[in-house]
Amino acid sequence: MFVELTQNEIKILLQAATESNYADEISVKCPRCGSKIIIIEYEKSYVVRCEKEGCIEMTSRGI
Ligand SMILES: [Zn+2]
Repeated sequence: MFVELTQNEIKILLQAATESNYADEISVKCPRCGSKIIIIEYEKSYVVRCEKEGCIEMTSRGI
């Protein structure tokens, strides 16, 4: 199970998602462990997560 995200972590992950729209590399790092943030895109949603398994993850729908 993933630990619940704080408001600040959500803000950082949203920033990473925005950045991925115009940049190849995301400069935003994981707020918990400092690893890379990766975006996995689906047809109508995307997942923003830390590259480290089991760290943090956020799913977004309806964009
Ligand atoms: Zn992490």
